Amino acid sequence: MKKPDREASRKLAVALVTDLFRHAEDVFSESPESALRFVRKARRAAERARVSVPGQFRRRFCRHCSSFWVPGKTVRVRLQKQKVVFYCLVCRHYFRLPYVAERKAGRRIK
Ligand SMILES: [Zn+2]
Repeated sequence: MKKPDREASRKLAVALVTDLFRHAEDVFSESPESALRFVRKARRAAERARVSVPGQFRRRFCRHCSSFWVPGKTVRVRLQKQKVVFYCLVCRHYFRLPYVAERKAGRRIK
């Protein structure tokens, strides 16, 4: 019996998740609710395929309520004690990220 091609389906899932996040970004200004739906879909797709959300999008949604994060609108981003603090304005949960890792990876917070 042939094993299902995990690698291929993972790649597909990552592509789908990327796509969905782009859509979320596109529609956010017009309808934040559709953005939320896209994020939920993306997270579900990632979960099903057991892939993690690609790095560039990991800080673009709330882990608690799945709302799409747009700095100043749905999330407040602050630097505090060597950490980046993301405060979700929708559900009021926040999460912190060490700053050093952020710099090392050369990531930028939009
Ligand atoms: Zn939230």
